[in-house]
Amino acid sequence: MTVTSPLFEAYLKCPTKCFLKSRGEADGQNAYANWIETESETYRNNGRQHLMDRIPSGECVASSQNVGDLRAARWRFAVDFCAHAEGLSSTIHIIERVSLKGEDKTALFIPVRLVVTNKPSRHDKLLLAFDALVLSQNLSRDVPFGKKIYGDQYATLKVMTVGLTDEVRKLIRKTAALLSNPSPPELVLNRHCAACEFQSRCRAKAIEKDDLSLLPRMTEKERRKIPYQRHLQRHPTFIYLSTTAEAQAPPPKPQ
Ligand code: SF4
Repeated sequence: MTVTSPLFEAYLKCPTKCFLKSRGEADGQNAYANWIETESETYRNNGRQHLMDRIPSGECVASSQNVGDLRAARWRFAVDFCAHAEGLSSTIHIIERVSLKGEDKTALFIPVRLVVTNKPSRHDKLLLAFDALVLSQNLSRDVPFGKKIYGDQYATLKVMTVGLTDEVRKLIRKTAALLSNPSPPELVLNRHCAACEFQSRCRAKAIEKDDLSLLPRMTEKERRKIPYQRHLQRHPTFIYLSTTAEAQAPPPKPQ
């Protein structure tokens, strides 16, 4: 299955979310998650418009169909460009094309991602690096950096995506492995649940199986210890047998 940018983004937040989205499941009952999605979409639309209002018409193409051959392109900006590479795809919010002077007259292509928050996160950087990787493979040339336009003021931040490529490749491999598995990953409630469209579904499942991730303060390490202790409580015979075996075991040989 193709690793798309929405699935990659979902994987960064929660493997279960990625799995459910890949299977076309939808919940839509979390009003907060719906509000965040609407805010992000509105910001992206306004950001594109903000860009188009600032540059002369003809320098911006507004659809992948009008982009043409990237190597022969004359536009400065392309909006919503669908980039594909082997097993990967991304709809890049904006691509900026910068003509380079010199004998070969090649151009630099810069992926740009619109982020609604005033403080972009590491996930935003990884998503931009994902866009850069797909574009790089699509063009068969280096795409060493990208840009984020973010926050109320449409501030711009340059991100050296080349330094994140190895991490992104590793995460892509993990996402692809998850997508090829017919079974869902282990359900673990986490900090993203409050803003996730599947919140009610996952919470109901966690309550049904009395899952320890319902206790938000418990660390993963602590959770991993508990099943063994629960097993001992539920199966006292196991305690008896293990303690008897221990008592009957020959004493350790002196060193
Ligand atoms: S509700 Fe929580 S556990 Fe379920 S998919 Fe969303 S983030 Fe993952």
